[in-house]
Amino acid sequence: MATIHRGHVFHIAGSPLVTQAAEHLVAFPDGALVVDDAGIILWCGDWKDVPVEHADVKVVDHHGAFILPGFIDTHMHFPQVWCGDSYGGGQLLEWLNSCIFPSESKFEDPDYAHNAAVEWIDRLVTAGTTNALVFGSAFPHAQDFLFEEARNRGIRLVSGTGIQTVGPESASRLIVSEETAVERVRAEIEKWHPLDPEVRRQSLQSVAVVPRFSLSVTRTTLAALGEVYDHYRDAGVYFTSHLNENARTGTGEIDSVKAEYQVTDYLDTYDGRFMPGSQVGGKSFLGPRSVMAHAVHCSDAELARMAETKTSIAHCPVSQLFLGSGTMPWKRTVAAGVNIAIGSDFGGGDEWFVPQMLNACFKVHISERTPVGIDPYPVDDESLSLHPAELLFTGTLAGARALDLEDRTGNFDVGKEADFVIIDPTKWEMFDKTLKGRHVPEDPIKARDECLFTVIMLAREKALTGTYVRGRKLETSTGASRIGA
Ligand SMILES: [Zn+2]
Repeated sequence: MATIHRGHVFHIAGSPLVTQAAEHLVAFPDGALVVDDAGIILWCGDWKDVPVEHADVKVVDHHGAFILPGFIDTHMHFPQVWCGDSYGGGQLLEWLNSCIFPSESKFEDPDYAHNAAVEWIDRLVTAGTTNALVFGSAFPHAQDFLFEEARNRGIRLVSGTGIQTVGPESASRLIVSEETAVERVRAEIEKWHPLDPEVRRQSLQSVAVVPRFSLSVTRTTLAALGEVYDHYRDAGVYFTSHLNENARTGTGEIDSVKAEYQVTDYLDTYDGRFMPGSQVGGKSFLGPRSVMAHAVHCSDAELARMAETKTSIAHCPVSQLFLGSGTMPWKRTVAAGVNIAIGSDFGGGDEWFVPQMLNACFKVHISERTPVGIDPYPVDDESLSLHPAELLFTGTLAGARALDLEDRTGNFDVGKEADFVIIDPTKWEMFDKTLKGRHVPEDPIKARDECLFTVIMLAREKALTGTYVRGRKLETSTGASRIGA
């Protein structure tokens, strides 16, 4: 028997570019999402137009609440589950050395790692994140706990063990030999990735190849991992790493990568061109299942190469603010044709709730000063006021695209799997009163857009009352649909 979820529906229909999101924004103030027993969307529309064949199905009335597609977080760090707002006394590399590497080393303890896995999935459920691309722990037992917990709870997850074969003394517990790195990546894929195409179509969890970043590995490691990735690429294995995050001159991440590898661009190291002078030395990791985190300081050539290979960017504005990394140039990146999804980068970021990342995204780009005259943006618009539909797109459908799952999730198109969240303003008085008390424009399109904008910018986790994957409501480890509920 099917189920109708009744509430205020918003989603980005079809398969638009981000610049077309406003034209594809769909809103039903009294809407219905009809989901069958297998969790597939049968129909989405206005409550009064529900087709007669669904007239006598079970109705879950989320009266006064919003129904949005499940949020997709395309960059976060499992072994940093308890690292939010760690004080490193500097920027990226100081923070890694003084806070992050020591904390991640604690996952060597199985009990600690198991508790972290339970907490991690609890946090995703509580934040309405139905799918996440997750940098994994260096320790295989910790990855097993994470995948087991994701499978048991029925949440989508892509993860892979974080590979480091070189690094400072503070990372010594996380560093493995090149042989061990390759063995562990292969073993994780064979154990947790759905290699069979039929199984893959039903599966919610997948594996990624995850070198921490170019400075954590060597040319030999990149060449060996490239062979592994190439072997499993057609089986839908993912790739993710960091790119062009910190641009501090001389000792920062980007200059250090270029000095170490003697390459023209940082991206070359992930594109098989990691030999001096950007000569080819191995297989490329780029492609439609590859996600580069940050991409704040890219050259035109790097952006063009990502667009050409359909590699996506995980944009992490909250983390970039925290670590002083700057801001991914929105107009240039969009104009280059690269898909931009949102990422928390937790624990570099300190937010789990995707709308809060979209909130930061709006603020940094309206404050961003970029060259004028970049297509498709108006020549006289120096800063950028992102449309609420563009924000919703970035937190939902763009994430599905980044994970090559747009045919299965990301919006409420008929035939997709029903991943959605319920946001109930009455669970947070300030949010509720603002929605009720604000001026509502007479123009229905303006009223629609302003409502969505307020929902994205003002909502907090405490207003989230349900996280559904494939039509099934997820629970936290304590059995609550949300922590504290
Ligand atoms: Zn990161």
